[in-house]
Amino acid sequence: MTDCIFCKIINGEIPSNKVFENDTVLAFRDINPQAPVHVVIIPKVHIASANELCADNISAVTDIFSAIPEIAKAAGVAESGYRIINNCGEDGGQTVLHLHFHMLGGKNLGEGLV
Ligand code: 5GP
Ligand code: ZN
Repeated sequence: MTDCIFCKIINGEIPSNKVFENDTVLAFRDINPQAPVHVVIIPKVHIASANELCADNISAVTDIFSAIPEIAKAAGVAESGYRIINNCGEDGGQTVLHLHFHMLGGKNLGEGLV
């Protein structure tokens, strides 16, 4: 996707502060952090949102969640804990149409979700 910000981060057109990378997953610091630790985790394949997931591309999600323990360690929140969030669509607050998960931590985030 030539006009996708996260695809541009994957191909190096836009620089990012990388936390973790393997063949299928990239994790980098959010440009506008909402917590002391805020990492964006993306699949290297372009999937617009959780709404586009299906049996044929679900490995992108399992690849991400398989990498989460290592990403948490690299981000320094494996012991203290963290929250994983996916925003989907307009009401979900999704602003970048490339599937991603937020990893938030570095402070006690409390129990509420909204
Ligand atoms: P969404 O609101 O779609 O769930 O999350 C998109 C996230 O991507 C936002 O938290 C936003 O700050 C982050 N973001 C948008 N553009 C860039 C960028 O160019 N670089 C980085 N590192 N983060 C970005
Ligand atoms: Zn993309």
